[in-house]
Amino acid sequence: MRRPMRPRRPRGPRRRGPLPPPALDAARRELSRANRLLESGQALEAAEIFARVADRAAQHGIPVRASHLAARAAQAFLVSGEVDRAQAQVRRAVRLSLRAGQMALAARLAHRALAELEERGYSAEAAALREEFDAQLQRVGLSLAEGPVGPAQGATPRPELPAQCPACLGPVHPDEVEWVDRTSVKCAYCGSIIKAQ
Ligand SMILES: [Zn+2]
Repeated sequence: MRRPMRPRRPRGPRRRGPLPPPALDAARRELSRANRLLESGQALEAAEIFARVADRAAQHGIPVRASHLAARAAQAFLVSGEVDRAQAQVRRAVRLSLRAGQMALAARLAHRALAELEERGYSAEAAALREEFDAQLQRVGLSLAEGPVGPAQGATPRPELPAQCPACLGPVHPDEVEWVDRTSVKCAYCGSIIKAQ
């Protein structure tokens, strides 16, 4: 007699379950520590924390948050002068948001990261990445050349948001956050609800 077939596990890295609330609190504490470190000039240590929390978010099936965290890690690596690691994190941020179907977010994160590379004098690195991202984005009908996608014409003006998330101290980019209602957004890095001022 044949044994019934067991359902196969999906291939690829094993995805763990959703993060339980204590793990989310721990992540918030780690992120606020990293943001403080970045502010006080310890960018490398901060970058490593951001990258680690990004890994965890990706493993637990929160790719959009992982993508924002990887972009944040890239910023901190760039500040610390680790341009190769910064580039790797930017690539990862773009890849994660594309895979999650967040095409416009991928374009925004790529755009901001390229501007930051250029600001710090890494023009050659920025040009190489630009070519790479343009090719990836063109496949999904977007282009970096058009610049970041702004709010829709005629959209209702949004209330002003605080510059920082009160829970994790991460920056709030109004174009990159998810609005949960007319006056509040979800922090892109830690998931806390941030109220407009
Ligand atoms: Zn936050």
